[in-house]
Amino acid sequence: MKVIRNVADLGAAMDPAPGRAPSVGLVPTMGSLHAGHLSLMAAARAECDVVVVSLFVNPAQFGRGEDLEQYPRDEVGDIATAESAGVDLLFAPAADQVYPEGFDTWVDPGKIGAYLEGSARPGHFRGVATICTKLFLLVKPRRAYFGRKDAQQVAVVKQLVRDLELPVEIVACPTVRDPDGLAMSSRNAYLSPDDRQVALALPRALEAGLAAHRSGTDAVRAARDVLDAQPGLRVDYVAEADLDGPTLAAAVVVGSTRLIDNVVLDAEA
Ligand code: AMP
Repeated sequence: MKVIRNVADLGAAMDPAPGRAPSVGLVPTMGSLHAGHLSLMAAARAECDVVVVSLFVNPAQFGRGEDLEQYPRDEVGDIATAESAGVDLLFAPAADQVYPEGFDTWVDPGKIGAYLEGSARPGHFRGVATICTKLFLLVKPRRAYFGRKDAQQVAVVKQLVRDLELPVEIVACPTVRDPDGLAMSSRNAYLSPDDRQVALALPRALEAGLAAHRSGTDAVRAARDVLDAQPGLRVDYVAEADLDGPTLAAAVVVGSTRLIDNVVLDAEA
């Protein structure tokens, strides 16, 4: 596996040899890799000739007062993890490679990025859309792999690819959960064992919402009831929305950790 840190070297590495254009699969991440990320790499490995993983804690998608400084980082572990997942190239740039002095152009999603996570975290999806656009232009992937765990992000990225006619297929992969039901997330590292017990109300609430939906009752109400009954947890939002399909999405705060999760609202029992 090659590790590349400079944009110029990445451009050279991604130029196909004359006469041969291998299919490239890109997995954008902020590192601290876990089984959720690995599922995206496995999907890319199965479908593409060349697998590129980016590892970049993107300052532009963090708001003021958010956890940019504390965000868990483990580059040495991530390099070993990516290598053992069969990744061909890891792109791990410093911030000034991505946002050099004078950088001043942004990709700003419209309505799809303005509610739920977008209203809780103003500017978040502008940062996401901008880094994804840059990565798509630099890596030139045929496919890029994202987790349904961040369903609104999938919707934002699909919208940007459609609107800007970027030649990349966005592949949405299912949410990977720990055995206790909590969706895997780098931010789970912030949770104490007690916090974690409290946080389990989030997947429980979404399951209750899904069951209500399947029985023809109010999914949001059912999920909210479970969350409201859980001490030690603050609800940021619970909502039904079209996030790359009908979705029940929620965000909660446990201690100082903000967690998001969602389920697809299918009709089947
Ligand atoms: P992050 O490093 O948190 O920015 O995530 C990088 C990619 O991994 C995003 O497309 C996420 O949606 C995806 N991802 C994160 N957690 C999970 C999970 N538990 N299951 C599936 N995909 C995930």
